[in-house]
Amino acid sequence: MYSKTATWSQLTSLLVLVSLCSVFKANSTTKVDYFSDNALGNSVAIIQHPAGEYINGVTYVSYQGPEVAPYVAAYHHKTQEWRGPFKAGDSDLGQLIIDKGKVDSHGKPTLLIDDLGYIHIFYGGHGAGTKYGPNPYGRGGLGRNKHSVSKRPYDISEWQSLDNVSIFGTYNQAIKMDNGDIYLIYRHGAHRSDWVYQKSTDHGRSFAPAVPFLKSKARADIKATDSWYIWATKGQGDDIILTYDYHVCWFRGEGPRGRGHITQRHDLYYMILDTKTGKLRNINNQPIAMPVTKEIADNQTLVARTGKDWTFNGSAHLDDQGFPHIAINIGKDLGQNTGGPKQTHYYFWDGTNWQGGEPVNLSSNLVNTDTRGDFFIDSSTKQTTFLLGYQDKQDGVIATFTRKNNASSFEKKQELLRRPDASWAITSLIKNAHPEARLIVAEKLTGQKWHKMYLLGDKGPIQRPMSGAKILKSTELAQ
Ligand code: ZN
Repeated sequence: MYSKTATWSQLTSLLVLVSLCSVFKANSTTKVDYFSDNALGNSVAIIQHPAGEYINGVTYVSYQGPEVAPYVAAYHHKTQEWRGPFKAGDSDLGQLIIDKGKVDSHGKPTLLIDDLGYIHIFYGGHGAGTKYGPNPYGRGGLGRNKHSVSKRPYDISEWQSLDNVSIFGTYNQAIKMDNGDIYLIYRHGAHRSDWVYQKSTDHGRSFAPAVPFLKSKARADIKATDSWYIWATKGQGDDIILTYDYHVCWFRGEGPRGRGHITQRHDLYYMILDTKTGKLRNINNQPIAMPVTKEIADNQTLVARTGKDWTFNGSAHLDDQGFPHIAINIGKDLGQNTGGPKQTHYYFWDGTNWQGGEPVNLSSNLVNTDTRGDFFIDSSTKQTTFLLGYQDKQDGVIATFTRKNNASSFEKKQELLRRPDASWAITSLIKNAHPEARLIVAEKLTGQKWHKMYLLGDKGPIQRPMSGAKILKSTELAQ
């Protein structure tokens, strides 16, 4: 019925409607600190790298999402617009979730952009396993290593599969040299396998056969196999620099507490691969025979012993003199399969000797927490800056720590993110990173299956309208 005078209840209804509209309007434009909410498991890590790259005003990022498949998103810095995430391929390891409810995160993505602008994603590998035939450089595992490429340059919306790298690969690390050659470095199987590289001279459209350079072999003195974890990146000119730690892989029933394979790792090593000659050399320019065995590594490439303490390998970067600086995570063996919490320590070459070894974060609040992160060296200010993720009492924190050239320790500078009850999965620094977007981080909350992903830089997290960042439906979130 029409009435000239609006009744009180009609006015109230109108007000409710107006306020509801404004709520919906707010929701559609409300910005959040994360760019997606569908990350699964340990969706990013230091070792699978780069996980992101900045080029032509855009930061491209990758992470492990639903079905442990690789996902790719992109952020346009000038327009502040996000695209994606788009799924870039299918992982064999997704079947493990269906069969056993197990999330195997070894195949999280590595991202590299070639000289023609195509985006490459290497993912899915954890050794493939014997059902795919003999593995010449290793053994064990599950999940084939795979390679996807974007259908068009700089466009993440469509992908095609390229069947051109070894299915046995684990822990992909992709490096593009100045001439456009691409090196894919990985472990050729599960943990008792050699580390190898494959080289492409045609922008990743084909790869030469794997070349083993770091050997896994059974020991004569104890019932264990030599094994390794590497982190590699481009050095000066034609060089690739490699830092690594040693995994003593006990036979079944052997080792501490008779547990066989545990994540026991020790010591720190460094060497250089000259891609022009295909030869290795050490910090003193002595040639190193290939593939490197533990004996050779100990004699020629040792940076530091960690004694009884256990390690978890980190990254390496050169300063403007070409001297390497190395991060390594070190902690006590507390009788667990994974050892105790490990703190990030820092070593560097002074031209004659290895120096350093101190922890980067000296806070006394680091109780029962790992620190993980990566660093960059600013040649103009002679400062080394770490971006570290750790737990400060109950909060998860990502913060920067800087050290002047001659200082003896690092100073905490800036907190980029702090979240209650969070722990982190964190990438190496994004390749060619824009200062606003240096690394990719997953926020892990206890008991939650899905994680939020953040793109972090000097101004904290890059925001995104909630409508784009909120991907999972409430039914999926409840799983
Ligand atoms: Zn092992």
